[in-house]
Amino acid sequence: MKAIRTFTVRPVLADALAPLDRLASNWRWSWSRATHALFASMDPDLWREIGENPARMLGALGQRRLDELSHDEDFLARLRAEDARLTAYLEGDRWYQSLEGQKPQRIAYFSPEFGVDGSLPQYSGGLGILAGDHLKSASDLGVPLTGVGLFYHAGYFRQSIGDDGWQRESYPLLDPYGLGLTLLRDEADAPVEIVLDLPGDRRLAARVWIADIGRVPLLLLDSETPSNTEDMRRVTDRLYGGGGEHRLLQELLLGVGGVRALRAWCRLTRHPTPDVYHTNEGHAGFQGLERMSELITHDGLSFDEALAQVRASTVFTTHTPVPAGIDRFPRDLIEAYLRSRLFEGLDTARALALGLEEYPGGDPGVFNMAVLGLHLGQHANGVSVLHGQVSRRMFGALWPGVDENEVPITSITNGVHAPTWVHPALKALSERVFGDAHVPTHDWRDAEAVSDEELWGIRREMKTELVGEARRRLVAAVEGNGNVVPAWIEDALDPEVLTIGFARRVPTYKRLTLMLRDPERLTRILTDPERPVQIVIGGKSHPADDSGKILIQQLVRFSRDPKVRGRIVFLPDYDITLAKTLYPGCDVWLNNPLRPLEACGTSGMKAALNGALNLSIRDGWWDEWFDGENGWAIPTADTASSDEERDDAEASALYDLIEHQLVPKFYEREGGVPREWLRMVRHTMTDLGKKATSDRMVREYVERLYVPAAEHDAALRGDAYAGARELAAYVGRVRGAWSEVRVDSVDGSGIPQQAQAGDTFEVRAGVRLGRLTADDVEVELAYGRTDEDDDIADDHSLHPLSPTGETTDGVTTFGCTLPLDVTGTFGYTVRVVPRHPQLVSPVELGLVTYAS
Ligand SMILES: *Cc1c(COP(=O)(O)O)cnc(C)c1O
Repeated sequence: MKAIRTFTVRPVLADALAPLDRLASNWRWSWSRATHALFASMDPDLWREIGENPARMLGALGQRRLDELSHDEDFLARLRAEDARLTAYLEGDRWYQSLEGQKPQRIAYFSPEFGVDGSLPQYSGGLGILAGDHLKSASDLGVPLTGVGLFYHAGYFRQSIGDDGWQRESYPLLDPYGLGLTLLRDEADAPVEIVLDLPGDRRLAARVWIADIGRVPLLLLDSETPSNTEDMRRVTDRLYGGGGEHRLLQELLLGVGGVRALRAWCRLTRHPTPDVYHTNEGHAGFQGLERMSELITHDGLSFDEALAQVRASTVFTTHTPVPAGIDRFPRDLIEAYLRSRLFEGLDTARALALGLEEYPGGDPGVFNMAVLGLHLGQHANGVSVLHGQVSRRMFGALWPGVDENEVPITSITNGVHAPTWVHPALKALSERVFGDAHVPTHDWRDAEAVSDEELWGIRREMKTELVGEARRRLVAAVEGNGNVVPAWIEDALDPEVLTIGFARRVPTYKRLTLMLRDPERLTRILTDPERPVQIVIGGKSHPADDSGKILIQQLVRFSRDPKVRGRIVFLPDYDITLAKTLYPGCDVWLNNPLRPLEACGTSGMKAALNGALNLSIRDGWWDEWFDGENGWAIPTADTASSDEERDDAEASALYDLIEHQLVPKFYEREGGVPREWLRMVRHTMTDLGKKATSDRMVREYVERLYVPAAEHDAALRGDAYAGARELAAYVGRVRGAWSEVRVDSVDGSGIPQQAQAGDTFEVRAGVRLGRLTADDVEVELAYGRTDEDDDIADDHSLHPLSPTGETTDGVTTFGCTLPLDVTGTFGYTVRVVPRHPQLVSPVELGLVTYAS
């Protein structure tokens, strides 16, 4: 008989054990080695069995064991020490507190998924794990950030693989009470309820769970509340559950409900309301419309003024160059919601236009959440340098007439939370030799501090752990299908063999099966009698994606072939827990997406921090940081005439690299240790350690996006929104008059045909401004190297021209003098763009006029 709900009865904790409750309800335990170890030590077998979660542990332990522990002086001493450490962590000043100048009072961070820990499966892959790492680093750095998401009762699915190699999904229910979450309660101690009035007299209510991620609260909205009808309770049933309206209701709850939950949380906990709103991908886009509706109905702003205010304070991060990865809804569906009471005060047609694909190549019958995100976020970014470029091209149509490289989308490369992802054995080594456990900050090239033997010893230890874990999982999978465990599984994999890891979600572009392109060649590589290679694979396909499941099936079938079994294994149910053993246990981390579809990728960073070398297509972060010493780049065959040919060429290059580079280097030993290999490992850990962490990433978000957003927000909000009113009036005026702006003449006669470096260069331009004034615009000289078509290079310079004071017949003269400080063939032109101190980019309004 299956229970439809479960609940937890917690034992009473003796006073001496009271700090356990506090430690269990702050998720810092998940990246604090000592707190983690403290809970595990209470009963190591049970700890594993209940899925390594302190709150669950307290529920499962039983009164007798708790009584024992309450008299165990050694345990109590460790408990008090951990409790004191948590207090110090929560209270002390950190990096953010030492930042000078104006800074955000609070940042709201919205994401549809958060990957915080294996026991809180509220994520499907990279996007969610990144969000979890963002919160953890914000906490470590003292950034005043609050996360906003949904609580999914089933989370993401658990994967098993049938005898036929086909993926099966199951959705175990989570019990929020037993996990280490607390409900947001009001002054009367009743759970706060957030309510959304939906069209058709429907009502969607939600409670708010709080997960404390160190210093950062994460608010998770949950529609499982008695005041909801049965169908409304199902809104947060599972992550990315249904399509269409179910998905839309989730996103309305996240965006609109999220803002309301934040307001309630700020009021009840006496925190200042956020001045910066960051949306991780487009799913939370409705947060901006909710805030506009507030500004219009409560503060009396117009649509345009509210838009200006919301844009100023919003940071939008786009995460995918794959159009199928973007949420798109039928226009009519969205229109019905926009028309309803849910978005009070908003002009329906104008709000709708913010998300419609009304540009060449778009579908105006579609409401696109990325388009909404870009319209509502004055500060936007992609997640690696290459992805920034790809995004500027992909979304360039939203800024017609603007050069691609000027499309206002910058980039901040992702990073990973080292305390979460570095293996405990490596942390312990770091502590022993460098004095602290923070692996990425040290110089691992220092052979005096760490010998080759010591480093290799740790690498072997982590690999041996992976081999053990893989065997356990393979056995469990076979038993789970009701079969007898075959003998070969008992010694599948070998810690002495060169180990390549590959695990990720399985959308087509990630090419799970590229390695199977030439099965004979792969078989030879795996089974070489002297210098074999082994591959450990994991990956989940989206439940609705049969093409991904076919790829998994192909791989599983190949791995069961008696010729190769035990040398290539597929481990089911890839998740954070498996990832933490997998990355450190591999010598090489493989990634072979179709360039440039991997926006960033982070698994390779986690592997690198643990001393694995990367073997990857130059896509995402690897395009930026591959340096020839930290791994290998698989050449991209993007000029191939077909997909087939491209896969053949890239697979062949992959085999070549394994055979001719990886294998010789790995098996070349001196005193039993691969010296050259370790040189690359040391370099990887040292150099990528500096770059690949989410501490670096969050600092960049603060300095490059959050601080400017807070400044813009304050400038517009002050004095009863005088700035927002003024900016909206300016934008309206400039838009209305822009068609009158023309560059009438450009006089560059000051430039000699044969210029010499050091000469100066004089330009005058006559500009028709129509109804605008010289103060409304910037007239700019754009100059730089030219190609054979006289196109000016992307890295050109811009130099402002100033009004000379002359205006004749409606033509205003602007001029400048410029020293020629570089040599070569140059070209120049003159352009006019809007000028206002509250524009982040001069072309963000899509208004730019060039001389012709
Ligand atoms: C890091 C991580 C991912 C994302 O990895 P990519 O390289 O971006 O594909 C996915 N799943 C899990 C469990 C992870 O830990």
